[in-house]
Amino acid sequence: MIQLVRGFRDILPPETSVWQYVESIAKEHFENFGFREMRPPVLEQAALFQRSIGEHTDIVEKEMYTFAGSKDTMLTLRPEATASVVRAYIQHKLYSVDPICKFYTIGPMFRKERPQKGRYRQFHQINAEVFGVDSPYMDAQLIFMLMTYFARLSITGLRAHLNSLGCPECRPAFRQNLSDMLSARTEKLCEDCVRRLDKNPLRVLDCKKESCREAVADAPSMIDFLCGDCKRHFAAVQSVLDRMDVPFEIDTGLVRGLDYYTRTAFEIQTEELGAQNAVAGGGRYDNLVEMLGGPSQPAIGFAVGVDRLVELVEAKFPAFDAGPDVFFVPMGDAAMEMVAQWVCRLADAGIRTEADFSGRSLKALMRRADRMEAKNVLIVGDKEIAENEAVLRNMKTRDQVGVPMDRLVDTVREKVAREEF
Ligand code: AMP
Repeated sequence: MIQLVRGFRDILPPETSVWQYVESIAKEHFENFGFREMRPPVLEQAALFQRSIGEHTDIVEKEMYTFAGSKDTMLTLRPEATASVVRAYIQHKLYSVDPICKFYTIGPMFRKERPQKGRYRQFHQINAEVFGVDSPYMDAQLIFMLMTYFARLSITGLRAHLNSLGCPECRPAFRQNLSDMLSARTEKLCEDCVRRLDKNPLRVLDCKKESCREAVADAPSMIDFLCGDCKRHFAAVQSVLDRMDVPFEIDTGLVRGLDYYTRTAFEIQTEELGAQNAVAGGGRYDNLVEMLGGPSQPAIGFAVGVDRLVELVEAKFPAFDAGPDVFFVPMGDAAMEMVAQWVCRLADAGIRTEADFSGRSLKALMRRADRMEAKNVLIVGDKEIAENEAVLRNMKTRDQVGVPMDRLVDTVREKVAREEF
């Protein structure tokens, strides 16, 4: 039997109900903040990610699914969404009418990482990106939108971690300082970090290996190197978050794994997920649009890890998938024929409906209705047909009422809608 590819998984019902819920609240919430959905493809030219994410990152060095396309072009299954949204913003000149654009995307990402709990090779993100605004108020608004999104999903115990990564003015001095310090400690660093020291010393701050963590324990902090503009920008982000009562902490070790970030970087973490504790991450990338051939436009965005978010929501609401509102139990051929149309009409009228045409005993069907957690059962047999009255039974209270068959669809719909039954 052909099995799933390692690191990939099927998302099956009833879990899919949680996915739908999480995605629908995101759409509604983000649209309230003026974001509109964009749907870029999952396949892009490899060069897009190499140039944006950076050559010396885990993603580009070893995690991308890249293969040859036509005419010598290398293609990659997207490992993240930001690069595609930036490409679309540039390619379709979306900035020409109004450079300020806000988009969200929902979909799968692909990274060849070592599979483990909370880490998959196909995972899903909800992304939000804002172009054309450099104001720190946008940074605060985005973090507020993210935290209130989680609150709408009743997720508690989340912490926003915040750092500033500076800009091309002030980052080089920090980089140099960090690189000097780490060059004297290479014996403590892992192979990857030693190799990247020259090109990307900030990545060492992000390495999860114990000896690397020790090597950077007393590392300098970017915040101490911020230029005047970056310092004011970061202070303004914090002051607005304070005013809005968004809890956050400054985390000078937070650098994020991608090269394109500038200024504000943030991550939303939880203690409920074990080692993979980040539910969302994001930050400013003021130079990326220009770097990819577009106009000079600042930008900021974030990505929510949907797989991990779903896990949190499921832990909160274990019985998420509701059973049918009405489960028809037809006894005998005549009843089945009537139920055949009622089940369709009632579903079409917006009632979650189910029917069993197996012809098994009343007891067997009642057991199935119970197992499906049906809220009500509608029993129709020869006796009910003769009396022109079906029996509607509330599975929780065990109350029963008669429903006139000639007005069955309307009567049941009204009762269920009014939660009378
Ligand atoms: P990143 O694009 O790496 O900043 O990731 C943003 C969010 O996506 C993280 O905070 C995670 O919640 C989620 N994420 C990243 N990589 C994976 C993965 N391999 N499996 C599941 N979720 C992931």
